[in-house]
Amino acid sequence: MTPMLKQYGEWKDQYPDCLLLFRMGDFFELFFDDAVTASEVLDITLTARDQDKAIPMAGVPHHALDAYMGRLVAAGYRVAVCDQVTEPDGRTLVERRVVRVVTPGTYVPQESDGDGRLAAVAMNGDTSSIALLSAGTGLLEAGTFPADEALSLLFSFRPGELLVPRGQEADLSRRIVELMAEGGARPMIVPRERGEFSPQFASSWLCGRWGLSSLRAMGVEDDDPASGAAAAALRYLEETQFGGADHVHGIRPLLPEGMLILDQTTQMNLELVDGGVSLYSVLNRCRTPMGRRLLGAWITHPLVRLGEIEFRQSCIDAMVRDGPLLRSLSDALSGCRDMERALGRLSLKVGNPRDLGAIRDTLNALPGILEMLGREDLGALRSIFDEAPDLSNLRGLLSRALSDELPRAVGAGGVIRSGFDASLDESRDAISNAEENLRAFESSERERTGIRVRVGINKVFGYYIEVGRSYADRVPDDYVRRQTVSGGERFVNEALKDIERRVFRAEHEIGEREDALYRELVGAVLDRSMECQLASRAIASLDVLRSLAEAARDNSYVRPLMDGSRTFAVRGARHPVVERSLGVLPFTPNDIVLDPDSGEGCIAILTGPNMAGKSTYLRTAALVALMAHMGSFVPAESAHIGLLDRIFTRIGARDELSRGRSTFMVEMVETANILRHVTKRSLVILDEIGRGTSTYDGMSIAWAVVEFLGLHVEGKLKALFATHYHELTNMVLPGLVNLSMAVEESGDGIRFLHRVVTGPANRSYGVEVARLAGVPNLVVRRSQEILSGFEESSSKSKEGLGEISRKYAQKELFFDVEREGVIERLAMSDPDRMTPMEALGLVSSLRDKSRRILGLG
Ligand code: ADP
Repeated sequence: MTPMLKQYGEWKDQYPDCLLLFRMGDFFELFFDDAVTASEVLDITLTARDQDKAIPMAGVPHHALDAYMGRLVAAGYRVAVCDQVTEPDGRTLVERRVVRVVTPGTYVPQESDGDGRLAAVAMNGDTSSIALLSAGTGLLEAGTFPADEALSLLFSFRPGELLVPRGQEADLSRRIVELMAEGGARPMIVPRERGEFSPQFASSWLCGRWGLSSLRAMGVEDDDPASGAAAAALRYLEETQFGGADHVHGIRPLLPEGMLILDQTTQMNLELVDGGVSLYSVLNRCRTPMGRRLLGAWITHPLVRLGEIEFRQSCIDAMVRDGPLLRSLSDALSGCRDMERALGRLSLKVGNPRDLGAIRDTLNALPGILEMLGREDLGALRSIFDEAPDLSNLRGLLSRALSDELPRAVGAGGVIRSGFDASLDESRDAISNAEENLRAFESSERERTGIRVRVGINKVFGYYIEVGRSYADRVPDDYVRRQTVSGGERFVNEALKDIERRVFRAEHEIGEREDALYRELVGAVLDRSMECQLASRAIASLDVLRSLAEAARDNSYVRPLMDGSRTFAVRGARHPVVERSLGVLPFTPNDIVLDPDSGEGCIAILTGPNMAGKSTYLRTAALVALMAHMGSFVPAESAHIGLLDRIFTRIGARDELSRGRSTFMVEMVETANILRHVTKRSLVILDEIGRGTSTYDGMSIAWAVVEFLGLHVEGKLKALFATHYHELTNMVLPGLVNLSMAVEESGDGIRFLHRVVTGPANRSYGVEVARLAGVPNLVVRRSQEILSGFEESSSKSKEGLGEISRKYAQKELFFDVEREGVIERLAMSDPDRMTPMEALGLVSSLRDKSRRILGLG
């Protein structure tokens, strides 16, 4: 063991669960198993430290640390950065220390988006307390909820890491597998000591930290276990960032009663935020990263308070009517950068001059924005900035101090604008004078020696006087030889060294001074970080509202009338996403009217062939409802929507394999969840339930579910139910109506009109759809025959169905005798009683026969 490896070992022992990145000169190296892991994840070469190749080693260049770290963290690893803290002197061992621990929930990348999402959850019987902390932006939210609701909120936050009291990790990961698994974006679960989650400990620690007498000041009760989760999250952030969490200024209560609940299945079913084409992608016209993040949050956390919804509506309304305002705000917002994240990075001590630049640019954009909102009719929009304080001093300071183009690191110059600091300017002058001195020195040397000398600089040897080979023996005595190059010889003399010393001193002074000024500026920004955060949040809100207004204007959305009634009446509704993806093809608008109070239907059964537009209609209802509760305008001709408390969806055909449960089981779990939690204020969307099991089971379950929804839920709720069980259209229930998708039939097929009409569909048209899909004619004809057989048969009992199928099977319509023979032979064989030779013989004879049948000779 060399002393260096011993030093490595000591640090690795302190961070056993991290990959240790160990600084050695220009590289960060990994050793042993860490090296093997990193070489696989990062696709970098695995080398060896010693001669015997016994110590595997892999390294990344220090300047690219951030990018590599991002990839390690994305792959679910924790990383400890062990840096050199003393300058190498070539003799003693350089001192090293772990300066940062980077984890999936706390990593805030330098260049790309992403803000480090950390969550903590403590389960306590029927309720769970959760805390959601954005490491990048410093926003900490916490609350206690019924267990499923808490998980829904966690799910929409998408944490990279999830802290949990030790002992609860198994239970939690089981629930996560049940509820959150989809595409592998599961958070890393980190068990922590139980004591860290104690509300008593938490509230006194947090109050001490923020100088409060009670957390109630921030809307959180002191004995609320949510404060425990919040403290656990914050301590973890401090621990991994070595104290850099000053940008977290308080807890915001997560308010369940302030939000419409979207359970996790609904969030996935409706394709709200993820993937290429989602509601988010249609609504996103944001100009700032802060706005884009907030838009995602608005979509997954719709409101239920009329006042807040109407406030957003009136802001959007003002902009929809005013195209020039929309455009000028768009330009002004484009000037804003990610101030929120820049602040976070500076607080976490991983910031750089460009983060200061982002804050400067954003503050510079603010006055223009406020001026645009100064008009009398824009009071609502303007009030978004009521809480944002005046930051013109900070803005002035940053504008005066920082260069226009900023480097990524301090130390190499270029951070501070000239004219800002006298001593810095002096050093800079010294350097530019040195340039002149150098030229003057060159011409005086030429004169003195009569040789064409050339003065230059080399990274390793510094300043030199170069002389062509043929003159080498004519140089004056004071020249000292330094280096031989292809064209000649290089020398120095005292006068040149003097110039060099002055330049180096000035460069050093510039570096030191810029570093000091940079730190002062960071200090000035962090002193006002809370105010800057308020300004960022106001900018984000304005950006989202503007984005919603632009989307509303471009896509002809209307302002929905929202009130406390139970009405859901949307005329000419369109699916916001399908409408966009159809391109030039027109989307057929449909009315969606469900009104428990008017005597019209409030539970609709929708039938029609596959591909006729049933799912689209159902999803349209859910999306219009959701958009309305976000405060957005909606894709319709008109809309009147009474406040909802929850939107439930059960939509089939998702890939359930990753969950290891049968499709039918998942369907029933989701249905059970709906039946247990619906209220008369809920909107329920059920697409094809009962599909995963046998016809009779499925139909009976579907029937009972509809009956339950119609009869048992505190009177009537609003539900849309798409089914292929025609039998359900015979159901009689108060408030139940039948709808179907209109289809145009012609001689040789059908055409989908995508229009919803009252009354049940005639029949299921499955056979026609099969034809449209390109199923061979032979099969289509045969299925038509079978179908008419079924339809003739009046009895639809199990026996009846069995009889019919046997009768048709005996016809042996399209199996010719020879094919049948092969199958029969196989069916009659008994592998248990065969010798290997007999089995081989059978395979070989069946093979010959099948080759003949297939015409392969
Ligand atoms: P179903 O659920 O009845 O099988 P879908 O709702 O999946 O049918 O619709 C099938 C396709 O028909 C959609 O992908 C869409 O392209 C188109 N479609 C559905 N509804 C409409 C509509 N209202 N206007 C235009 N095209 C539609």
